[in-house]
Amino acid sequence: MRLAVLYGHAVLIRGDRAAGVRVASNGRLPADPMALLEQWDRLRVLEASLPDEAYDIEVDPDALGAPVPRPRQVFAVALNYPPHAAEAGFTPPEEPLVFTKFPTCLAGPRTTVELPEGKVDWEAELVAVIGRHTHRASEERAWEAVAGLTVGQDLSERVSQLQGKPAQFSLGKSFPGFGPTGPVVVTPDEFDDPDDLEITGLLNGEVVQHDRTKSMIFPVPELVARLSAVVPLLPGDLVFAGTPAGVGNRMNPPRYLTPGDELVTRIEGIGEIRQHFTAVPRRDAP
Ligand code: ZN
Repeated sequence: MRLAVLYGHAVLIRGDRAAGVRVASNGRLPADPMALLEQWDRLRVLEASLPDEAYDIEVDPDALGAPVPRPRQVFAVALNYPPHAAEAGFTPPEEPLVFTKFPTCLAGPRTTVELPEGKVDWEAELVAVIGRHTHRASEERAWEAVAGLTVGQDLSERVSQLQGKPAQFSLGKSFPGFGPTGPVVVTPDEFDDPDDLEITGLLNGEVVQHDRTKSMIFPVPELVARLSAVVPLLPGDLVFAGTPAGVGNRMNPPRYLTPGDELVTRIEGIGEIRQHFTAVPRRDAP
C-alpha cells in the first residue's frame, strides 16, 4: 500500500493515480492524514477492497505534501552507516545516537528551501513512519509497529549543529524546510526486503551519496526496539534512520549547498524527493 497527501488530503496511490481516502471509504475514514494514521488497520482493509476504478485522480507531483505533516515525535539517528561514521572521524557507535528534528521543519517532497546563514549540508535518509502505539517492542516484532517507509532529507546547518561543546544537533537541523519527506509512505510488505533498499543522493545530477540500507548499524527494527524501550512511540512518529557517507562537510574541500542547487534523494521502491535552494532575503534590523 502506498499512502500520500495530495492537496492536503490523504490519498491512496496506485500507479500514477490516486484515490481520496475519505471519498473511497464513504466518509468512514478521515481525509486528515494524522487522524488516518490512528486507523491504520482499517485503512489496509479499505485498500485491499478498492478496485482500480476508484483511483480517479491524476497525481500532480507538485501537489503532494509531507505524507505525515504533523508527527508528535521526530527521532533522528547520527552515524548509523559505518562509512559515514568513519568519514566523520568516529568509530561506529555502540548505542544509537538520537536527536530530534523539531516538527515545524517538515515539508513535502518538492520544495524550495531558503538557505539560512551558515553552512547547509545534505543527508539522504530512510524515514520510518510509526503505525501504532508501541512501547517496549521486541526487535523481532518491531516491523509490526511500522506503518511504512518514506524518503527524507536531514538538512543540517553545520555551524550551529557543531558549535557547542558538547555539540547539540537538533536546532541546526530544524530550520524551516529542513525536513522534506515523501513522496509516499510505502508499507513494509511492498518490498522484497525492507531492510535492504538502495539509497541515493544527487546534487545537481551528480551522485554524492550511494549505499544500501542494509549497511545501517542499527536497522529499523532495532531502532524501534531501542527507542520504544524508553519512549512510547505514537502513530505518525517519524524515525530518520541516519545517512550514508558522502555528506558535504566531510568532502575535501568541504562543499555546502548554495542558491540554485538542486538536491534529489531517491530510495528504491519508494520514489524521490527534490529540493531547490535559494538565498534568504536579507532582513535589516528595525
Ligand atoms: Zn541525519
